[in-house]
Amino acid sequence: MRSSIVYCTILLIALVGSSLDASAQSEQEKIKQMEDERQRQRGRSTREQLDSAIALTDAGKYEAADAKYRYVLQNLKSLPSDLTYHFGKNSYLLGLYSQSVDWLNKYIQLRGPGGQFYEDAVTWLKKAEQDLLKEREVKSAEASVLLSKNYDIDCGPSGKVICPVCTGSTVVIKKTYLGDQYKTCTFCKKLGYLTCVDYNKMLRGELKAINDDK
Ligand SMILES: [Zn+2]
Repeated sequence: MRSSIVYCTILLIALVGSSLDASAQSEQEKIKQMEDERQRQRGRSTREQLDSAIALTDAGKYEAADAKYRYVLQNLKSLPSDLTYHFGKNSYLLGLYSQSVDWLNKYIQLRGPGGQFYEDAVTWLKKAEQDLLKEREVKSAEASVLLSKNYDIDCGPSGKVICPVCTGSTVVIKKTYLGDQYKTCTFCKKLGYLTCVDYNKMLRGELKAINDDK
């Protein structure tokens, strides 16, 4: 009988104690949950982020993948070297050739021939370099088309440009086997400069030399 009272008392104490524990625990749980949440946001693992970016690249969603790679780049202090390969490849597929060349080169420098994606990196790099070259050629062709049209270049308030043929000296030096021959510049009328109109003609290949053979 007596032992059962002791038992009940112990049980009661245990119950009260545990209910106190419970309220403290719920408080602790809240804090823990908040911390977990913060940690989840902060620490979503590198690999997860990168894997989902790679999956987006594979699915042809290059824009979305690009955003994710950039997120990883901005939020991680230590970057996995794989990232440089995948970001470089995705940049190529987005048509960002110069960026692609930069990152693929980084991967190749970091990992060398032993790298898991080395062969692929070299292949994509070649493509990126070729397309970058093409892009530059197209751009320079576009620029010369623009010039060949009747656009005039504004020569500034003076309205004059130093003669590109004689560089303002009014004299052109010709090297011959008899020595240097000095000839008067046939483009700028002994002025050393061109009017803006003439300069624009020269750019379009329309300015004719003056033949005043003396
Ligand atoms: Zn000249």
